[in-house]
Amino acid sequence: MSTERERDGESGRTGTFGEYGGQYVPEALMPAVQELEDAYERYVLENEDGFMDEFRERMREFGGRPTPLQRADRLSERYDREIYLKREDLLHGGAHKLNNALGQVLLAKYMGKERIIAETGAGQHGTATAMAAAHLDMPCEIYMGRTDVNRQRPNVYRMRMNGAEVNPVEAGSGTLKEAINETMRDWATTVERTHYVIGSVVGPHPFPQMVRDFQAVIGKEARKQIQEQAGRLPDSVVACAGGGSNTMGTFHAFVPDDDVDLYAVEAGGSSLEIDEDEGLAPNSATLSTGTDGVLHGAMTKLLQSTEGQIMESHSVSAGLDYAGVGPELSHLVETGRVTPASVDDEVALNGFHRLSRLEGIIPALESSHALGYLEEAHEDLGDLVVVNVSGRGDKDLETVLEETEKRDLAAAPDVEVFDQ
Ligand SMILES: *Cc1c(COP(=O)(O)O)cnc(C)c1O
Repeated sequence: MSTERERDGESGRTGTFGEYGGQYVPEALMPAVQELEDAYERYVLENEDGFMDEFRERMREFGGRPTPLQRADRLSERYDREIYLKREDLLHGGAHKLNNALGQVLLAKYMGKERIIAETGAGQHGTATAMAAAHLDMPCEIYMGRTDVNRQRPNVYRMRMNGAEVNPVEAGSGTLKEAINETMRDWATTVERTHYVIGSVVGPHPFPQMVRDFQAVIGKEARKQIQEQAGRLPDSVVACAGGGSNTMGTFHAFVPDDDVDLYAVEAGGSSLEIDEDEGLAPNSATLSTGTDGVLHGAMTKLLQSTEGQIMESHSVSAGLDYAGVGPELSHLVETGRVTPASVDDEVALNGFHRLSRLEGIIPALESSHALGYLEEAHEDLGDLVVVNVSGRGDKDLETVLEETEKRDLAAAPDVEVFDQ
């Protein structure tokens, strides 16, 4: 693995991807960030004390890696090309999130920390962190906006089952943005004994690069598996993007393969139109519609007003509902290596039903955006396509039932089965 510092040698700035990334943090947080940067370089990049060996072994035995790359027979028939699914929904916990959570909690142990904190929005990252902390015997506190606590009860219970304390954050709209701010505040005052497990490829350096390295196993496996199973590299790789950790994890191994097209599918919500005056974005399509600014410690693409106020984003999928995106993904889009795309709520819901019906796999609503894009754009994706199924959809059944009943969805002709 090469560090960005090597790759971006000419700029000489720490942890940047072209224009994006960096360490835009208050002075109180600089010691924490520097200590983490040092630990990241030693343990993750240089495998000091066999850190990466232990990480890989635990991901195999506790996590269930490697996950399969499965040929989707009926989707292949439907689109008249070869479709393969990377099954991160089969990872322990039901999503790719454990790759990162376990990596960071283990790193905290190697650093001699005694306490884990994390933010969560929909609750998926909090759940993965609570599982990893229980597995590695570390006390764990999760910050979660009050609104999210109230609408994501099952995940709050799951975190508590694993012994984590869930701290509701009352500020602002009571969602992910406020939870991140509160976790940063905690970290600044407790850094000597605490590690902050950030949930995606966002935040100040080294988080975007480190989280990518923990998630890169997805693409590394998929690249090897597709060559074994299909005899060659794919024409395209498709993944959904919220903060972009399953996206970067899937893409990283393929970035040097110039003939492999990479598609990051964001949440188009109900519309791509943005209401500047109200500060509302009815979508979370940051890569397609955002502008450059600083959020949570990094320069990246954001949904913001012309005055720089962060907008409230929207998606039917809670895990994609974030006004920022990882700086490396912003850079890869800016340089043309990754193509940004988006599909709206309805296309994603149809993608959810289609995979459930055709393949017997109930995908997360986040992943359903990648599957919706496959339906819309398959003709442009070449003969051999890999789609990352970032997680399973059990957590989304209630939302899907409600949202499907509101609409008349083609892919769910007899959805009344839910009513019986
Ligand atoms: C959290 C989540 C996402 C979005 O997060 P990224 O960092 O963009 O990957 C996507 N899919 C699933 C299943 C998730 O839980």
